[in-house]
Amino acid sequence: MIDLNGKRALVTGGSRGIGAAIALALAENGADVAFTYQNSISKAESVATSIKGTGRRAIAIKADSADPNAIARSVTEAVSALGGLDILVNNAAIGLNGMIADIHVDEYQALMDINVRGPVLFAKAVIPHLAAGGRIISIGSGLAERVPFPGVTAYAMSKSALLSFTRGLSRELGPRGITVNLVLPGSTDTEANPANGPAADIQRSMSSLGRFAEPHEVASAVVYLASPAASVITGAILAVDGGAIA
Ligand code: NDP
Repeated sequence: MIDLNGKRALVTGGSRGIGAAIALALAENGADVAFTYQNSISKAESVATSIKGTGRRAIAIKADSADPNAIARSVTEAVSALGGLDILVNNAAIGLNGMIADIHVDEYQALMDINVRGPVLFAKAVIPHLAAGGRIISIGSGLAERVPFPGVTAYAMSKSALLSFTRGLSRELGPRGITVNLVLPGSTDTEANPANGPAADIQRSMSSLGRFAEPHEVASAVVYLASPAASVITGAILAVDGGAIA
């Protein structure tokens, strides 16, 4: 049984898609939840309302993951509103489609700032607040393990950085009883990768189950890793992809 009662979580990019499902699932299992977003104010308000509907506390924080000052401020706001933090979920990320020969240096920099530096700076800011039993869970991508198409090289690179980040940070925080894990979603039906999009059929054909995941199916893996049931799992890389990298 999953019991997150009394736990306080911060989810980055919680206004839509997988992050919104994670924020809500953590609350449904008992956690109070702060989450960040960048632009989607009304969607963020709607997620906060859904979380409050579970009886848990919710706080939506507008903070650009590319901005180190905004990251520090959002952690301070979350700690202040919830009275501390026990769980960090690094979910916010952007995609980048384009051949390496064609991508612009500014696009590349934004990708790395949000997808790589963001999780590092969120962890750095949250670590001082975590006690034994604390959790850091990042959302990577199956493309970190295998790159089946041209044009996703830079995005896959940004996600593969989280493999070493997770393994190394688990070594750093293990002595304090804090676990650090990485979830690798496969194709998941969100605005970023709709199940009716132009590249959807080829993605379906690559998975063992032959379908996209729903965001709540990725969220349930995160809830498990956040829970006491996963107390001895750390430095782990969990594919949640319908068998796409089987
Ligand atoms: P979406 O694009 O649907 O949602 C992205 C979320 O991140 C939104 O809440 C968005 O906020 C937020 N966000 C984006 N940029 C920033 C920023 N600079 N600062 C703060 N928040 C930001 O993505 P998904 O739900 O599809 O993806 C979630 C995670 O799962 C990502 O890490 C992604 O790489 C990974 N993933 C997704 C897969 C898929 O098939 N969907 C497959 C593999 C991995 P706002 O609404 O305000 O823009």
